[in-house]
This record gives sequence, structure tokens and C-alpha cells, in this order.
Amino acid sequence: STSQSNHNAEAKTAERTSPLRMRRWQIDGYNGLEGVTLASGRVPPISKPGDLLIKVSASSVNPIDTAMISGYGNGMLNIMRLMDQFQQGIFDINQIEFPLTVGRDFAGEIVAVGQGVTKYSVGDRVFGVVSPQSQGSHAEYVVASGVNVCKVPRDTSLEDAASIPYVGLTAWSAAVVSGMMFKNTAPGSRILILGASGGVGTFLCQMLSAWGAEVVGVCSSDAMDFVLSVGATHALNYKDPATKELLIADGGFKLVIDAAGTDDMDYLKALKPWVGSSYVTLSPPFLRNTDDLGIAGGLAKSVRQVVCKNATSLSEGRAYKWAFYMPNPWALQQIANMISENKIRAVIDKVFPFEEVPTAYEHVLNGHARGKTVINVS
Ligand code: NDP
Repeated sequence: STSQSNHNAEAKTAERTSPLRMRRWQIDGYNGLEGVTLASGRVPPISKPGDLLIKVSASSVNPIDTAMISGYGNGMLNIMRLMDQFQQGIFDINQIEFPLTVGRDFAGEIVAVGQGVTKYSVGDRVFGVVSPQSQGSHAEYVVASGVNVCKVPRDTSLEDAASIPYVGLTAWSAAVVSGMMFKNTAPGSRILILGASGGVGTFLCQMLSAWGAEVVGVCSSDAMDFVLSVGATHALNYKDPATKELLIADGGFKLVIDAAGTDDMDYLKALKPWVGSSYVTLSPPFLRNTDDLGIAGGLAKSVRQVVCKNATSLSEGRAYKWAFYMPNPWALQQIANMISENKIRAVIDKVFPFEEVPTAYEHVLNGHARGKTVINVS
């Protein structure tokens, strides 16, 4: 439409003339930690009416960030980036991918709003997420859609707030969307969380126990007290071979969530059969398959895999499901409400200053997370 093309022209002009500069951590190729550099560039312009420009106070590091710097998901993400360019009337094949800043969540203060934004004003403290294909939040400023942010609860610091959106929405997707567990179904349900000590796992323990579920967390022996402190009723050590045997012999869980990256299907047997129980894994092979085989081949292989894995489990009365991080404005508001009600708190493993982002990535790559790694930007 005419107004859309006028808006696109204004956005491009704004990009050329934006006087503000910022620092951002970026990559110019997929070379892992070696390729992460601190660069100076223009503050990104608001190019869509619903967007916000946010001065980032803090952001978190997720395993997706440390995977993306080595190329994970780039096949699918580049197609999404091309579609974004197309929508904005930009056709510049050299600008699709690099330089790329990773970082999927943030907390900060709004410094400019798009012309279609009515819910937020300059000066509001917000936390939220950026789309997987967009420029990321490990920078001093970020542009995010107004639908993917929420006001930070009054008594919560921006550092604490930044640790929550990406893992919170991933946990929501796994437990509520795939696992079909909610406030009304959780009371009395027995739920097993593999990887209970990580960012997603600690969020799941808090949320599901606040809803009245009995949560069993599986983690390393040194993390057992920590996992109990975030709401699990029982904690078990995954390095002890007796743990898996015990859980399979129990066989009474309504939901198992794999937030440990194992996709260990033995745990399907820990589910109570024929009661609508599910094993939900957060390690679907979809992006990896599309990286290896292209979109069509990757999609076909992924469909084959999920059908094969379900064929046996469904015949035994248990479902095998994949879960993905999903943006979800309503869920983000529910998460903010739970923070206000003191049902969810930030669980922070370590905070790094902005200047030490590569060390923060290294910390996440080394594993053994006990909650979240956070970057203090300003
Ligand atoms: P973290 O790195 O924060 O946490 C992983 C946790 O799992 C660590 O505490 C680790 O501790 C523990 N762990 C490792 N191996 C095992 C095991 N065999 N049994 C039980 N616990 C184990 O990751 P996140 O919480 O951010 O993410 C969890 C998983 O979900 C990751 O694999 C991530 O890639 C995936 N994910 C997928 C998304 C999607 O859209 N599909 C979105 C977000 C996350 P220790 O090593 O000491 O045992």
C-alpha cells in the first residue's frame, strides 16, 4: 500500500541518518567464540509501526546464542530474514545475515516508540524477547515488537527481569502448549523435569510447583539442594544409574519434560499410560535437520522422526512431543503477574559486565548452569 511504502522510505531514511551510535557484540561468520567482536555502529531504527527502541540494561545468554555463533539454524533463519526484508520493501542480499548480534531477551527502558504503539511510552521499563531471525539484544540498544514486551513488575530489578523472558516462554511452551498442564490441571499432577538445574528447568520447577504440581527434578548431585530450593518436591541425581531405574519403576508421571538436551526416550516409561500423559523434549532435531539437508529435506526427515518416535509410544498410551521456544504475549503477561505475586523469582547463576560477553558465552558453553547467565549492559 502507499502508506506502507511511505513508511518504508521513512525507515530507510532514518537508518541512513540516525545520529546515535552504540556498541554491540557481533559476528561476521560462524566461527564460534573466536569470531565474537565488539563493534560500534548506528542505533537500529524503528522500521515498523509497532516497534519499540529500547536502551538495554541487561540481557541473558541462552544456549541458542552460543549455538547460533557456530551457525546453528542459519538455513531456516535466513529464509525468515529474507521474508522480513521482503515485507519492508528492502532487497539487499548482502545485508541478510551479517554482521549479526545474538541475544534473545532483554530488560531496559523504552527510548522511542513506533507510530502505531499505544500501550507503551518513552521511559517505561520493559522486558521481553526479539524474534529468532532479528538482530539480538547483546547490544546497548535493541528494536523489539511492542507485542513481545511487557512492563517490568515494580519491585523487580532490570537485571533480574532480563533473566526470565526466553526461558519463561520456553518453559510455558513445553509445559502449557505441548504438555497441556495449566493452573487447573497441575494440582496433584506428578511432573518429572530432566535438567531441573538449568535456566528452563529452574523456571519450570517454580511455575509448576506454584500451580500445585508435585515436581521431581533430575540434576547433578551438587545441584540437588538448589533444585529443591526452587520448588521441586524431590531431587534425583542423573549420574546415579539407579535414578532412571527408580523413575521407570515408578511409572506414575503425567508429564516428563526434557530440559537437559538428552532426548532420552527411556523416560517415556516413567509416564503413566492411557491418561493423556506426555514426554516433551526441548531438543527437537528440526533446525539441525534443515541445516544439514535444506528446508524440504530437513522438514521431511523431521516429520519421519516424530512419526516413528510416536508410533511405538502412542500404542503404549503415552505421547512423545517436541516443544520450541514460542513468542506468546499473553504468556509473558502471566509470567509478569507471577513475578509480581512472588511465585516466580529470578534465579541467576552469574552476571557478567557487557565488556565480558565472550566470557559469558564461554561460561554457558561450559555447561553446568545453575539458573541463568546474565549480561549487565548498563
Ligand atoms: P541450561 O544450559 O541453562 O541448563 C541445562 C541444565 O541441564 C544444566 O543445569 C545441566 O547441569 C543439566 N544437565 C545436563 N545433562 C543432564 C542430564 N543428563 N540430566 C539432567 N540434567 C542435565 O539450558 P536451558 O535451561 O536454557 O535449556 C535447556 C535445554 O533446552 C537445552 O538443551 C537447550 O538447548 C534447549 N532449549 C530448546 C529450546 C527450543 O526452542 N527447542 C529453547 C530453549 C532451550 P549439569 O551439566 O551440571 O548436569
